[in-house]
Amino acid sequence: MDSKLSSLRILILEDQLFQRLVAEQVVAGLNIQLLLTAETSEDALQQLQEKGPVDLVLCDLDLPGMDGIEFIRHLANQKLADGVIVLSAMDASIIRTVEDMSQALGLKSLGHLPKPIHRNHLREMLEVYVNGETFDSFKPLLPSEQLLNEQELEEAVEQHQFILHYQPKVLLNDGQLIAVEALVRWQHPDLGLIHPVHFIPMMESSGMIEPLTINMIDLALIQIKAWQQQGREIPISINISATMLSNTSLPDMLMKKTKGMNIPPALLNLEITESSSISDVALALETLARFKLHGFALSIDDFGTGYASMQQLNRIPFSELKIDQSFVSNACKDDTHKAIVESNIHLAHRLNMQTVGEGVETQEDWQMLHDLNCDIAQGYFIARPMPADTLLGWEKQWLSKQPITPHKPAL
Ligand code: C2E
Ligand code: CA
Ligand code: CA
Repeated sequence: MDSKLSSLRILILEDQLFQRLVAEQVVAGLNIQLLLTAETSEDALQQLQEKGPVDLVLCDLDLPGMDGIEFIRHLANQKLADGVIVLSAMDASIIRTVEDMSQALGLKSLGHLPKPIHRNHLREMLEVYVNGETFDSFKPLLPSEQLLNEQELEEAVEQHQFILHYQPKVLLNDGQLIAVEALVRWQHPDLGLIHPVHFIPMMESSGMIEPLTINMIDLALIQIKAWQQQGREIPISINISATMLSNTSLPDMLMKKTKGMNIPPALLNLEITESSSISDVALALETLARFKLHGFALSIDDFGTGYASMQQLNRIPFSELKIDQSFVSNACKDDTHKAIVESNIHLAHRLNMQTVGEGVETQEDWQMLHDLNCDIAQGYFIARPMPADTLLGWEKQWLSKQPITPHKPAL
């Protein structure tokens, strides 16, 4: 058996006693790290909030109280799982829609299993899940006894335990490195490198995200300076949580920082995820307009997964639109996703925005984005996020492999 299965954490949500017992027995037989079971959506959410996120939820759709569809939305919004498997005897088209919805919400959809679930079938799905993931995207979950608390996070911010890794953004027409995205990691003294999924939600809800982000901006500016001293001008994208946009003094603070270091603000690109968590739209618009006024680049992140996408585009002068990886990774095999990617690219170009395809994992993804006239690609096919000092070495290797867009056969 695949030993990677032993690190999995799974929750089963099933209201029927018999089906739940079968599922529980099958999953328990795979010797995974943690198995939780729940009879209702409400109980499942509560357990996950208390015990921390799991890798996968196996979930029935037809449930008393909150149904499985609404449950999946909460699961995604609260980032309580990495993926879902639907357990259902429902009509295939409903299951398919739910799977699409899960992916659009940023959850991995591993497929569906008819009930009662069969051990070999489940094991196959789990093995694809654990092996299909590359190391960087597989976020090992923290042992439950080491659940993070706010105080620990606060101390970690004070002690500068957070570092940045950088992932290249390259031009699709010639592969040139055009920018990097800065992604935070927690260099934990005992647990090693911890990925943002484990601490960003808590930081957002506690307000700690602001001091963290300001630290990260300082690190990014130091890095821009270091590359400048090596003769390179590499713009850095920083993720800004929507919750921070109500602080309208942020643009002035960043302006002072860039001015003080003699760095053009255009070298800092602020990536903002569309989100329902913008509580005061007027304040957020003021902050964004001020960023733009001062010359910072603005990027709309995870486009298509959030709310009111079009509305935000009309009102905010974004310079870049990032197409979410769930659309990119499905577009090669699914015409509906491909049509969405294509129309997003047209829309962005009509509004004079650059487009970035995220989650480019294969040559096929790359080729598809290239053919659809997307400008920039980012993803494991190009490079995983890496420490700053390995970037220029990576670039040399990467460029020596060009051209990577195969020529179309002559007709
Ligand atoms: P994001 O902004 O959408 O960042 C891209 C995420 O996708 C990164 O995960 C990156 O490692 C991953 N990724 C890149 N290429 C691929 C690929 O080809 N396949 C797959 N499967 N994944 C890929 P990471 O670093 O775990 O970050 C997760 C999220 O955490 C980010 O999503 C962002 O929303 C948030 N985040 C990261 N750093 C910060 C930060 O400094 N501040 C704030 N507020 N949020 C941050
Ligand atoms: Ca981002
Ligand atoms: Ca993104």
